[in-house]
Amino acid sequence: MIPGSFSYHSPATVEEAVGLLAELGDDARPLAGGHSLLPMMKLRLAPLEHLVDLRKIDALKGIEEADGALVIGAMTTQADLLASGLVAGHCPIIQETAALIADPQVRYVGTLGGNVANGDPANDMPGVMQCLDASYLLTGKGGSREVKARDFYEGAFFTALQEGEILTAVKVPVPPAGHGYAYEKLKRKIGDYATAAAAVVLTMAGGTCKSASIALTNVGETPLYAAEASAVLVGSSLNKAAVDQAVSLAEGITAPASDGRGPAEYRTKMAGVMLRRAIQRAHERATG
Ligand SMILES: Cc1cc2nc3c(=O)[nH]c(=O)nc-3n(C[C@H](O)[C@H](O)[C@H](O)COP(=O)(O)OP(=O)(O)OC[C@H]3O[C@@H](n4cnc5c(N)ncnc54)[C@H](O)[C@@H]3O)c2cc1C
Repeated sequence: MIPGSFSYHSPATVEEAVGLLAELGDDARPLAGGHSLLPMMKLRLAPLEHLVDLRKIDALKGIEEADGALVIGAMTTQADLLASGLVAGHCPIIQETAALIADPQVRYVGTLGGNVANGDPANDMPGVMQCLDASYLLTGKGGSREVKARDFYEGAFFTALQEGEILTAVKVPVPPAGHGYAYEKLKRKIGDYATAAAAVVLTMAGGTCKSASIALTNVGETPLYAAEASAVLVGSSLNKAAVDQAVSLAEGITAPASDGRGPAEYRTKMAGVMLRRAIQRAHERATG
């Protein structure tokens, strides 16, 4: 469990970091909390010659509210998210999710940017960001661009990040006040990745569902935004028939691997169970 040798770089600005990544090419990677990257290097699954540490770049830290969105710097840790009044007030599903990631030690070091840029389908934040219709702000040597979380994930560990680009921030449109939300995660033990998980954000008016958004974690090669399942809830009272239909549609887009967390059929059914619970809890919160 000892990584191969590598050079360590510690830039102070985004410009310096993207300059280094462009210069060093494919043998270099950004380093954030290191809680996904370093284990891969120790297992010799990610042989890298250069690490470009983002921790000294102040521009990547902090949480702001601007134009109806929360803009969360990539180097914001899961613990920072849990401590943020802005996140608590505007987007509590992010805190509910952060609290279910690993354990306090990991949460003090692991970052939001690392979690969403990693491309591991087992990471929890990507599905939640798809549910919230968040965008990722990316900067490379050639300039900056914004990519929706729903378009970012291309396969397991393959994302829209181009070589030399870093993710600088996550922009989350603030859901309407009074929205209901829930992140339900089945895991084998405290601190584990999800066997299956579901994120739901919805709004209710006069007993009718006015908007709904559903995403699933770790039941496919990428996080899954469940567009059809979301749509069937809208206009319903979230009665059993509508929820059954949404669960069935969501289960239909899953394609989990059979692995140590269980056979594929079980994980698909557990995604359905997590979704049913998340809809119920989001409904209660939207009307409670
Ligand atoms: C014991 C343990 C349990 C865990 N359990 C969970 C869990 O339940 N759920 C969960 O979601 N995660 C879990 N994790 C992973 C943890 O949350 C990681 O911290 C997270 O996946 C990656 O964040 P990081 O800041 O550590 O990124 P790093 O490990 O530093 O980086 C991960 C990848 O993203 C790239 N990267 C990082 N930041 C950027 C950026 N700003 N721009 C471009 N690329 C970037 C890196 O180059 C690397 O390829 C666990 C980790 C451990 C050690």
